Amino acid sequence: MHFIDPHIHMVCRTTDEYGLMAKMGCVAVSEPSFWAGFDRRGVEGFRDYFEQITGFEPKRAAQYGIQHYTWLCMNAKEAENVALSREVIAMIPEYLDRPGVLGLGEIGLNKNTKNEVLTFLEHLELAAKTNEQILIHTPHLADKYQGTRMTLDLVTSDHRIDPDRVVVDHLEEHTIRLVLEAGFWAGITLYPTTKCTPARAVDLVQMYGPERLLVNSAADWGPSNPLAVPDFIMEMRRRKHPESLIRQIVYENPLEFFGQSKNFRFQSPAEPGAE
Ligand SMILES: [Zn+2]
Repeated sequence: MHFIDPHIHMVCRTTDEYGLMAKMGCVAVSEPSFWAGFDRRGVEGFRDYFEQITGFEPKRAAQYGIQHYTWLCMNAKEAENVALSREVIAMIPEYLDRPGVLGLGEIGLNKNTKNEVLTFLEHLELAAKTNEQILIHTPHLADKYQGTRMTLDLVTSDHRIDPDRVVVDHLEEHTIRLVLEAGFWAGITLYPTTKCTPARAVDLVQMYGPERLLVNSAADWGPSNPLAVPDFIMEMRRRKHPESLIRQIVYENPLEFFGQSKNFRFQSPAEPGAE
């Protein structure tokens, strides 16, 4: 089955993993901007990173028949540095018309601080002005519930932003309902240890249905699995869910969500056996 991984940090992964993902049916990925594991020393570090994810990474993916899309922003971890965040946000418009740039992301809160909120609001302002889609990171478990509530309050109080063009990611059992009820897309991250296991993600599908759900690996430089979406597909099959339902979640939903971006030029691959 073809699938799309809507949140993965391929700059952290090997070429062999692109090969494995392609063999498992991956036809497209989207790569949000992320913390490098250390704080960058200035705005030029971000320029190099944006060049890498909009230029080199799509070429690396294309060698395996994978279409690569990108989201740009100052990540939640470094958003605490308001001065540097402003420089990065001011540079982003230079990149918004590059092929494959879907919008701003993953913006959001990390420790729910005042500075993070300020940077978040400045991203929202840019998204509203440039009519970009948004991908939002929610904090790690200790700060997740409060951070998700704060995030939803901030986004819904800006009436220029259409919730149908926003995905709120890394949701779990205690945060997913808030997000779906507010009309946003809901991202579920499959991680080996923290966030959701494939089994818990399938439980969420059974509780909330497939509408506006996106399932991703969020694989990065830490413990994570770039083949987590295939693990979700296997768990769905093990519970005897129809192929059409699985396909809706791992393929049609990302197409529908990404399709709202002006730079999403998806080329449908032939289905296996449909020559
Ligand atoms: Zn991420």
